[in-house]
Order: sequence, then C-alpha cells, then structure tokens
Amino acid sequence: MSLGMSEPDAGSAATELTTSVTPDGDGWTVNGTKVFSTHSADADVYLVYARFGPGTGGIGSVLIDRDTPGLTVGAAKQYMNGEHWCPLYFDDCRIPADQVLLGPGGFKQQISGFNVERLGNSARSIAVGRYAFDRAKEYVLTRHQFGRPLAEFQGLQWMFADAAVKLESAQLLLERAAATGDRLGLPTGPETAMAKLAANQAGFFAADVAVQAMGATGFCDDSLVEYCFRRTRGWMIAGGSVEILKNRIAEHVFGRRFPSRTT
Ligand SMILES: Cc1cc2nc3c(=O)[nH]c(=O)nc-3n(C[C@H](O)[C@H](O)[C@H](O)COP(=O)(O)OP(=O)(O)OC[C@H]3O[C@@H](n4cnc5c(N)ncnc54)[C@H](O)[C@@H]3O)c2cc1C
Repeated sequence: MSLGMSEPDAGSAATELTTSVTPDGDGWTVNGTKVFSTHSADADVYLVYARFGPGTGGIGSVLIDRDTPGLTVGAAKQYMNGEHWCPLYFDDCRIPADQVLLGPGGFKQQISGFNVERLGNSARSIAVGRYAFDRAKEYVLTRHQFGRPLAEFQGLQWMFADAAVKLESAQLLLERAAATGDRLGLPTGPETAMAKLAANQAGFFAADVAVQAMGATGFCDDSLVEYCFRRTRGWMIAGGSVEILKNRIAEHVFGRRFPSRTT
C-alpha cells in the first residue's frame, strides 16, 4: 500500500487538496493528481485522501486498486534517500462504494490514525541515527591521528555527548507518546508532534555527527553512515515537516490556533 496525501499544490497545506470524489451511480468517481507517494511504484493499492465537498470537513479517504481503469501510475522518481515514488493520475477513476474508507468528515480521524505512523517515523529516525552514532563511536575509538585515538579529542567527545542527549531525550518523548496511545487508543497530537520533532532532529543530528567524526570515510557512498545521513534527512520533511510540527506545538503552548492562511 502507498499513501496518497500530497498534491502538486497541497504539501504542508494538506487540507487544500483538490482530488475529488463524486457520486456515480452505486459507486464513486475520483479525479486528481497525487505526488510523493512513497513506494507507489510497487504498491498494489493506494490510500488516497480526497475531497467529497468543501472545507476540511469535506475531506475523506478512499482505497484504489492499482489496476483500476482511469488510474495512471507515472514514471518513477527517486528521493535522496534512495526510495522511489510515482505521480498518480486519477482520470474519471471509478471505484465501488465499499472502497470509501472514511467519508466526508473523516479527515480528523484519519490524521489521528496517522499519528501512529508519525511515531513509527520517530522510532525509525532514532534507530537510524543511533546506528550511525554507534558506528562512528567504534570508529573514533580505533582510528588514530596525531598518535592518539580520535575519541581522546574533546572537540569530538562533545559532538557525541550532544548526540547522546538528543537521542535519549527523543526516545523518552517517543515512549511517552506511545504510552498515551496505549492508554487512550491513539497518541495525542501534541505529544506526537513533540516526539516526532525531537526524533527527527536527533536522528539527523546523530547521523551528521557520525559523518563528520568519520571524515572522508563517513562521506563515502560505501559507508552506511552516509546512507543514515540521507535517510534521516528525509524524515525532517516527510509526515509533517519539522516546521509544521513546531507550528502545532506552538498552538499547544499558547492554547489557540495560528492559521497559516491569511485569507
Ligand atoms: C522521504 C519522503 C517521503 C514522503 N512520503 C510521502 C507519502 O508516502 N505520501 C504522501 O502523500 N506524501 C509523502 N511525502 C510528501 C510530504 O508529505 C511533503 O513533502 C510535506 O508535506 C511537505 O510538503 P512539500 O514538500 O510540498 O513542501 P511545502 O509545503 O511546499 O513546504 C516547503 C517548506 O516550507 C515550509 N513551510 C510550509 N508551510 C509552512 C508554515 N505554515 N510555517 C512554516 N514553514 C512552512 C515546510 O516546512 C518546508 O520546509 C514524502 C516526503 C518525503 C521527503
């Protein structure tokens, strides 16, 4: 399965999506374009966020099989992290009634469920960052310059200390959000936003430290640390960018909405 939420003109502004679902006899017809759906090249089915009517309340979601007439899967493109995605074109794409997952008004419910995915994203960020951290730690213990192991230079020690604190604190925020999810059924928005922000920043910071500490060895494309750097970078954008997460956290702090749209 691949998720089709983003559109050419609706990225961070996800609720401005225009892909439409209109009644068609005993089924529905879908029209629109989706971009950036990870693994869409290989998916058998697409979970597509689409509009049944105006406003956020008009958004729901449908499931569309790959072989549905009217769906064209465009040429694959590659992200910096090596994953692929294809543009998805829906041109009078007819689906049966039972492939509506959540009808109008379903968006908030869908996003609450998506918070679980965001915690998975957080866990992956921490895990990949920690892997790079561990590889670099081994390296600086064994690599000698100026007659001493690199680990004896304080400039490097502090980089590892900062990365360790970021990784550990992100892990605690993630566990708190997951524990709340266990208790309430789904994780809350503010706890998820804090966990994902901390995890995305910690993972990328740790991978960046690892590349730097390993010098040109870490920067080579046969180094898994280099892969961790590219991989953690994408999670700063995917699934709610760090800026959008900060917006959500600020709204929680001040107890009010700060709409990005001025009109
Ligand atoms: C690795 C990866 C995997 C992805 N997988 C999927 C997927 O499977 N399915 C899917 O539907 N989409 C996917 N996406 C797309 C992702 O959801 C979007 O990239 C994301 O929502 C941002 O949209 P955009 O790229 O259009 O950037 P834009 O929305 O154009 O934003 C550009 C920059 O401006 C910032 N910005 C925008 N608005 C504000 C604001 N109000 N305040 C402060 N800063 C702001 C953003 O944070 C960003 O830094 C993926 C992206 C990546 C990188």
